[in-house]
Amino acid sequence: MWLKIEPQEPILVGEVRADSQFLVGQTYIPGRVLRGAWAEWLAQQGLEDTRILETVGRVRLGNFFPAAEMAGFRYALPLPMSAMSCKKAGGFRSEPLPERHGVVDTLLPHLAYHLLEQKGARFSVPFSLICTKCRDRLEAYGGFYAVYDLYGTERFVLFRPRFHAQTKVALSRHRRASAEGMLYTASALSPYVPAPDREGAEARLVFVGRVDAEDYEALKEALGKVALGALHTRGYGKVALKDAEVDLPPLRERLEAFNKTLKALWQDLRRLAANGQDLPNEPPAGVYFSVDLLAPGVFRERSLPTLVPSLTLGGQTLRPIFWMTRPDMASGWSNAWGLPKPTHLAARMGSVYVYCWDGPKEELLPLLQALEKEGIGGRRDEGFGECLVCHPFHQEVEER
Ligand SMILES: [Zn+2]
Repeated sequence: MWLKIEPQEPILVGEVRADSQFLVGQTYIPGRVLRGAWAEWLAQQGLEDTRILETVGRVRLGNFFPAAEMAGFRYALPLPMSAMSCKKAGGFRSEPLPERHGVVDTLLPHLAYHLLEQKGARFSVPFSLICTKCRDRLEAYGGFYAVYDLYGTERFVLFRPRFHAQTKVALSRHRRASAEGMLYTASALSPYVPAPDREGAEARLVFVGRVDAEDYEALKEALGKVALGALHTRGYGKVALKDAEVDLPPLRERLEAFNKTLKALWQDLRRLAANGQDLPNEPPAGVYFSVDLLAPGVFRERSLPTLVPSLTLGGQTLRPIFWMTRPDMASGWSNAWGLPKPTHLAARMGSVYVYCWDGPKEELLPLLQALEKEGIGGRRDEGFGECLVCHPFHQEVEER
């Protein structure tokens, strides 16, 4: 089930690092913020702590990603770490002026190159990508993007937040601050953003995310009555909640497209290898898939923290064969004690891991469906490890 959050006022959602005077304003709404707001509302209704934990524990709330509200909305996601754009004029080609040279995903070309090298391919040049418009270097391109269907053509838009004036904010224990009454500097998000279709126009900011809850209606009602994030007493954080229509390509389609594109790229790159004739016509057998983090992931391997998780699926232990990740810190707060939890090493949102499954696709599909539902790694009850299999952006191997 997909839900849409429409801020009616500026909204300030952020995280306080233990050693900082800054509330790092986030441009998305973590699922745990919604869970916290719901818990607080239940407490206001006089519910006991154990009942609150029970009620809130039954619901799975994913992260909510920002987008400009516009007709034809299909979905909003973080760009995977493999997305790149031109150093000189980065951005999607279909955005309003100034001209941008397009965003491209490099995971599948990288993977094909890597697999070919393992099979002994000899390339005369190292793997590198340049802008097809100006020949300048490509660099990593992050952030959130949304896809719209505009009269039958797909339109890609990067989320460009607009910030409300910077302000000093005091946070309560329930809002995850380390010291009651301490002042933090923060900027709230405006409920309006630049319209993606017309230069100079405005559109409403919305956040779209996944909810899996039996008490869906109760949750929706409660969140419509509380303010999200900080500064509520000063007219911040009021939201409206609506069912969202999201049109993300189904898992089967994403998995099939991933393998088809990998095969096509393998064949393209094989022709460029000096010894192309001696190389097989297809990648090594197996079903290839990526796991893309939609939230930071907390992983351990033989009781040590790691950024590169193995997967156990249907009795097979799969090691990633290719990955792109960067470190992050997983902090958090204990609901029961109002104290910071130990900080763990985490893999950043947008991290990508590729695995290869030895077996029929039909056996793999339900396992991957469960993985998307349950998430990956530790501290999932706090919203870590939310993931998507075969992120649709991996299909964009030509500039968008
Ligand atoms: Zn360029």
